Amino acid sequence: MEEPARLGHAMTDIQTFLNTLHDRYQPLDKGQLASYIPELTKADPNWFAISVVTVDGRVFQVGNVDQKFTIQSISKIFVYGMALADHGRDRVLKKVGVEPTGDPFNSLIRLDEDSKRPDNPMINAGAIATTSLIQGPTPTDRLNRLLDMFSRYIGHQVYVDVPTFLSERATGHRNRAIAHLMLNFGMIDEHIEDVLDLYCQQCALLVTCQDLATMAATLANRGLNPLTGEQAVDSEHIRDILSVMYTCGMYNFAGEWAFRVGIPAKSGVSGGILAVVPNQAGIAVFSPLLDKNGNSVRGLRVFENLSQTYGFHLFDLSMGRCRFREGLAGAIADDASPRPAIAP
Ligand code: GLU
Repeated sequence: MEEPARLGHAMTDIQTFLNTLHDRYQPLDKGQLASYIPELTKADPNWFAISVVTVDGRVFQVGNVDQKFTIQSISKIFVYGMALADHGRDRVLKKVGVEPTGDPFNSLIRLDEDSKRPDNPMINAGAIATTSLIQGPTPTDRLNRLLDMFSRYIGHQVYVDVPTFLSERATGHRNRAIAHLMLNFGMIDEHIEDVLDLYCQQCALLVTCQDLATMAATLANRGLNPLTGEQAVDSEHIRDILSVMYTCGMYNFAGEWAFRVGIPAKSGVSGGILAVVPNQAGIAVFSPLLDKNGNSVRGLRVFENLSQTYGFHLFDLSMGRCRFREGLAGAIADDASPRPAIAP
């Protein structure tokens, strides 16, 4: 990654800094659109949005913040949370591990030799196993439960983009192969097509960049959506969700991300990256040009700049204080309604 843009003062207004980053990286046109799901090639490579939602409900954003796109792999963390809620940690751990892999997200599976578990819930094998744990008597009930869960995180009703769902269903032979292999080892039951449909539907959920930031802010706020006051997931599951995000959320860049940016995050092949600054804010970037690992090129630049400037790396202890919290406390929200400042 290149040297981050540095603004003179760490307390520079967050909105101004987001605008600066947006201006700086809009011309960066490196990377490729994901094409293995044909519908994703219809994205505009110029789309670029950055959103921050704080745990006290302030919103800062810039760019194509209302542009809808499909959530793709970012759905995996929320479905993992629901599986934890449905079954508890011990049972979920029997079906899917928490070990990072150096393999691509869609790798044709390395099931653990003894347990036969996929390594973690962020690779496709683990995510399909996780989706198979979602409870409900019929496929429609299970889909509705997922949609209800997502809408609690987002704060409004959500929909599946049917063309993207059908596009992935028609071409998702690799995921089908992964599911059959797991069936062979008894890790999922025989309703493979139902599970794969639900997995493709969760990936085809339509969101905006602000939606992603709100979802991240909900995780940052112990499961309570800061814009609606609704509890989206029981707070006892937040630690597990954030832990797998931190170690496994950024494809083959997860270690590098943890080193450089230092907060739990998840990205998806449609170009979203969502990250959680615990107890402070959710941040999202959307820009569909991807690097070779499948991460948004502009997104990575923005997050590295934000982390360096505001010092929100979880292990950045050098300043003895968090510049991000101070920056937020000093900033004025663009949605204007006065809200309490973040406690020091
Ligand atoms: N639906 C995509 C797949 O399974 C999600 C991939 C991603 O965003 O990483 O291939």
